[in-house]
Amino acid sequence: MISNESLKIIPLGGLGEIGKNMTVIEYGNDIIVIDAGLKFPEEQLPGVDLVLPDYSYLRENRDKLRAIILTHGHEDHVGCLPFLLRDLNVPLYGTRLTIGLAKGKLAEYLPLDELELNEIDPRFDLEIGPFKLEFMRVCHSIPDGVALAIHTPVGVIVHSGDFKFDQTPVDGVTTDFSKFASVGDRGVLALLSDSTNSEDEGFTRTERSVGTVLNQIVAQARRRVIAASFASHIHRIQQIMEVAHGNGRRVAITGLSMIRNISIASELGYLRIPEKLLVPVEKIDDYPEDQILILSTGSQGEPLSALARIASHDHKKVNLRRGDTVIISATPVPGNEKSVSKTIDQLFRGGAEVYYESIAEVHVSGHGAREELKLMINLVRPKYFIPIHGEYRHLIHHAMLAADTGVEKDKILIAGNGDIIEFSQDKAAIVGRIDSGAIFVDGLGVGDVGDVVIRDRQRLSQHGMIIVVATVDGSTGKLLTGPDIISRGFVGIPDSAQILEEAKRKAEEALLICEREAITDRMLLKSHVKDSLSRFLFAKTMKRPMIIPVIMEV
Ligand SMILES: [Zn+2]
Ligand SMILES: [Zn+2]
Repeated sequence: MISNESLKIIPLGGLGEIGKNMTVIEYGNDIIVIDAGLKFPEEQLPGVDLVLPDYSYLRENRDKLRAIILTHGHEDHVGCLPFLLRDLNVPLYGTRLTIGLAKGKLAEYLPLDELELNEIDPRFDLEIGPFKLEFMRVCHSIPDGVALAIHTPVGVIVHSGDFKFDQTPVDGVTTDFSKFASVGDRGVLALLSDSTNSEDEGFTRTERSVGTVLNQIVAQARRRVIAASFASHIHRIQQIMEVAHGNGRRVAITGLSMIRNISIASELGYLRIPEKLLVPVEKIDDYPEDQILILSTGSQGEPLSALARIASHDHKKVNLRRGDTVIISATPVPGNEKSVSKTIDQLFRGGAEVYYESIAEVHVSGHGAREELKLMINLVRPKYFIPIHGEYRHLIHHAMLAADTGVEKDKILIAGNGDIIEFSQDKAAIVGRIDSGAIFVDGLGVGDVGDVVIRDRQRLSQHGMIIVVATVDGSTGKLLTGPDIISRGFVGIPDSAQILEEAKRKAEEALLICEREAITDRMLLKSHVKDSLSRFLFAKTMKRPMIIPVIMEV
């Protein structure tokens, strides 16, 4: 097919970062979007609950928007939906479990009957506008994941989703080697592939190996077992349940997202729960300690936040006891490593026996390591290669792997969020950029927390706050009363009383200069006071407290 139109790929999230994955595929008057994820804030974003990709490009091009295709049900691929669908009602496509999990989540926010949720069967192709989509099954840390081959008038684009090549998966569904190879045989213009584990040598161990280790630990445990995992990790949950069952233990589940996902997955047939295995968590004390396993997760499905509460006796239903065996069958979400190591310490202090990734093989990644990434490239044999899903260094390592497998160096494109990658019949290049930052979600508000607010909150928490109060004559700028200084959280500094006294004189100086120059505009007065104080305080204390001048006019 020959066409003068070009194909554009615009990543809105997931490049140069782990999380908030979202990619725009645009041809002529049609746009489809692959995934709509979120990211959990790192510790340096005080008061922010969630981070979303900036999807204003979709809002501006809503007439072209045909569909959102979901590769799998993880938060970093579907978590943006409740917010995005409130703005833009777009048809959604995903496999049975992916749609099931998305529904469970969306029902909290939106009337489901107003949404267009479409289940796809990966065996059949799907046509949307000028695009024909083929689906390949992939193994990952959640069942029912797919990769996509998107047939466009310019060529075939393969999007890997998140994948690994587990050859003995728990549910028996392997990554679709033959379909990837067949797509590759027919010719692929570009491969967009998951870079998360591009620093890890070899192959990721099979999920099944975790089951073996879990069984050894549970068989030896003399009292209660508390196992923490991700609420979406249905295969892991399956293995934990089987291990509990095999060792004569009942399972109690805590955590809303865990309970919800287990019920969705078992209803849809992705999880097989042995009969009479489950007991309500309120009833665990009716059973001997060596016949109980508690399966837990925390807020947002983050397993370690629940453990932190259990460890500090702050959990509503389960508290740590001496002699408990705790298994952390998960890995910390990036950015949370420090708080996790604290939790592990606290669990040990509380008298528990603790097993975690670095000392026992109780977790494997859901992402393919270097050999698997090479295998993907060799099956698909793309002309162009674009690493996605990863920090910048992951993208670079993945690019080097692609070069090793024989992709021409000038056909490897390392892009960032917002880059417009344009493909025509004979070439591809990054031709421009659109706005692509992040949207911060604070409680229920979306996008009302800007960068400035974040900076203020950081400053408040680390450096405290100084309020300067003064009254000036509104017509002449003459200083009438003050300035007075009130400080909060600006402590731990030697001679702080003296410094604040000096600060007061600095503020006065600044106001007197304004008076001399007949500056009466309140904004200007404020900024003069603020500037001179922050310079002074930084020089004296190396801190940048938040400074709020309150200038009253009479
Ligand atoms: Zn995933
Ligand atoms: Zn992911």
